[in-house]
Amino acid sequence: MKKFDVAIAGAGLIGGSIALELARAGLSVGLFDSREPGQESSWAGAGILSPAPESAAMIPLVPLAKASMAIYPAFVCMAEEISGQSAGYRPKGTLQALFSRDAREELSTVIALHHGLGLKAEPLSPEDARELEPSLSEDLEAAVLRPDEASVDNRAMTQAVLEAALRGGAKLFPESRAHAIWCDRGRCAGLQIKNEKVEAKWTVIAAGCFSANIEGVAAYAPVRPAKGQMIALRADGLEIERVLWSEKIYLVPRNDGRILAGATVEYTGFEKSLTAGGLEKVLAGAIELSPGLAAARVEETWAGLRPDSPDHLPILGPTDLDGLLIATGHFRGGILLTPITAKLVREWVTQQRVSVDWDRFSPMRFQSASASKAPA
Ligand SMILES: Cc1cc2nc3c(=O)[nH]c(=O)nc-3n(C[C@H](O)[C@H](O)[C@H](O)COP(=O)(O)OP(=O)(O)OC[C@H]3O[C@@H](n4cnc5c(N)ncnc54)[C@H](O)[C@@H]3O)c2cc1C
Repeated sequence: MKKFDVAIAGAGLIGGSIALELARAGLSVGLFDSREPGQESSWAGAGILSPAPESAAMIPLVPLAKASMAIYPAFVCMAEEISGQSAGYRPKGTLQALFSRDAREELSTVIALHHGLGLKAEPLSPEDARELEPSLSEDLEAAVLRPDEASVDNRAMTQAVLEAALRGGAKLFPESRAHAIWCDRGRCAGLQIKNEKVEAKWTVIAAGCFSANIEGVAAYAPVRPAKGQMIALRADGLEIERVLWSEKIYLVPRNDGRILAGATVEYTGFEKSLTAGGLEKVLAGAIELSPGLAAARVEETWAGLRPDSPDHLPILGPTDLDGLLIATGHFRGGILLTPITAKLVREWVTQQRVSVDWDRFSPMRFQSASASKAPA
């Protein structure tokens, strides 16, 4: 029987980063993936690192997102140094474009919201915005510069993190689907992989939107897939420096000159089809934001499945089953939240305490919700 200090189900960016942190702390780590590691959401994402909330419902996430941003550069440096691979980190900021007729009013609301949350945001006139990003549309009414934001090449970063975890001593097992947690004498004693039991003092579920399919996990991590369709463009003579946002889509420049445009958010189950309507929505939004992209070549199209939770917030921390930890449900922010997730899991496993409050994200919150709804 395989035996580790920690067994992790799911070798995406989240599972890989947890493996890296724990291996560096001197623990023996087994990292199991049902397929080829790092080919799901962590491969499909855009790599925007923005702690700004997309809606009021995401405001509780801001402190965790800020904590992750603060340690991002050091985390990237560490993964790059150990792996010898670049993660394509670009600390260039974000420019949010406003097109509505009441853009001025919107501008002051956006700035006040950001400042209230302790996030840097500067108002820009359309002229100043186009001076920074000449490809922006003439129809722009106002803009917000968020200078502290960044992006990363999530495909490169996932590979760097997995390689660093391996070099750090973690054992990686591709094509090794966890079909259940293994419970023994009232505690979680590891994972059941195919017909084999893997014993571990700590078991971490980090299988993204597939986590709830692992027997014994759904009550703690009731995640579902949220499909996102993406397009990679290449435009000769058109340069974009920062991440550009409109209320419809975003554009993310990569170091190799590609410009990613995304993304839809669709609840269509575990399927990754590309649709005419989805691609049209992304392309129309991209061209509205930066009209020169109409002449860009389409280099690649793809779709991925984000791990979404019932309240759209991540699911992090210990459960009432001794030895079982959950690290999933990161929805649209898993790449941003990678360093802090890995750090908090490492702190819990090695010291049973954490440096950033994560109670709000407890896997136990879904159980108390269903218990309080139960008939008397
Ligand atoms: C289109 C799109 C755009 C996005 N843009 C951004 C962005 O700009 N910024 C941001 O921060 N986030 C973004 N995200 C979200 C981000 O990609 C995810 O939150 C993050 O990648 C989740 O990582 P993960 O490791 O939990 O999941 P995944 O990367 O999905 O990894 C889960 C792994 O578990 C494996 N697995 C599944 N079932 C099992 C099992 N039973 N046993 C063992 N292994 C199993 C899978 O094969 C997979 O390798 C985006 C996502 C999408 C789809």
